[in-house]
Formats: sequence, structure tokens, C-alpha cells
Amino acid sequence: MKNIHCVVFGHNYKVTKRVTYYVKEYTCSRCKKQLTTNGNGNLVPLTPKFKEINDVLERIHQNRHLKSRMKHESDAIEHEELDYIEIKHKVSSIDRMPTINTESLLVFKH
Ligand SMILES: [Zn+2]
Repeated sequence: MKNIHCVVFGHNYKVTKRVTYYVKEYTCSRCKKQLTTNGNGNLVPLTPKFKEINDVLERIHQNRHLKSRMKHESDAIEHEELDYIEIKHKVSSIDRMPTINTESLLVFKH
């Protein structure tokens, strides 16, 4: 969906979802283009993979929020960054699973 207003004036992004303290999802109110914050704090297009990561992050964030209300906020953010790396790693290993299976089959043949 192309919107001439966005091309001329730029997108008009609004926060549509707060995933964690610093990961948010944005949607352009005119053309509905979606962005999210990645692990480096940059804005990137909201692809299905980032949606998946954000869903997991949101669940972890909500659980932690309930469990550790007494904890200092900066501690939570520190843990959150670690979670993000772990989740990224998990998601990419799911992607690579067929390759890993083929490799282990080859190992068994030796
Ligand atoms: Zn737009």
C-alpha cells in the first residue's frame, strides 16, 4: 500500500505495542507500515521473525515483571538484553535445524 503523503513527508509512526522497556512496535498511521526496535536499538521493518522474537520477549518480560517488582529497573534491562541474545540464538537454531539433522546423520554413517 503506497501513500504519497509518506513518500513526500515521511511516515507517521505511532507506538502500537510496548514489548519491553525499550523494544516497541510502531505502525505508520497512514500506510500501516510496521517497524520494531532490534537488539541494537535500531528501527527495522517488522518481519515475521521479529514478530516472533517480540512475542517471546513480551512473555518473558511480563513474567519477570510479576516476579521481581522489587528489583531495580536497570537490573531488569540488563537481564533483558541477555534474553534477547538467547532468543535470537534460539530462533536461528530453529531455522538451522534441518541442516543440523543432516549433519548428524552423516556423522552416524562414518
Ligand atoms: Zn507511511
